[in-house]
Amino acid sequence: MARTSGAKKATKKKPNSFEIFRKKLVDNQTEILNLYERDLKVGQEASDDGTEDIVDRANNSYNREFMFALSDAERQMLLEIEDALERLDGGEYGSCLNCSDTIPKARLRAVPWTRYCIDCQEQAEQGVILEA
Ligand SMILES: [Zn+2]
Repeated sequence: MARTSGAKKATKKKPNSFEIFRKKLVDNQTEILNLYERDLKVGQEASDDGTEDIVDRANNSYNREFMFALSDAERQMLLEIEDALERLDGGEYGSCLNCSDTIPKARLRAVPWTRYCIDCQEQAEQGVILEA
């Protein structure tokens, strides 16, 4: 792919300055995927067991609901991590998707998959910004 030249001159960004966040993102991704696989296994073992009594069954359905809720949040996080990795590949990582400001490293360290700077994140939470 040819880069469009002109417009912006010499970017100050060091191409590798965000690579430390790639590792964090991939680590998080792996962690969630491992959890997810483990949950799947537990789910299968639970439903394979035909000898559970009523108390066990109640416990199991509680656990299943819990795991379900958990994996919803985790699925959302996985999507955000994938997005962040794509932005990292595309050289857009570290800039707010709303105002294009540079997101402070401290924020990226805390939430490496974040899309917005703190100001825009607050607006997003108030529903001012419509997330894609
Ligand atoms: Zn912003």
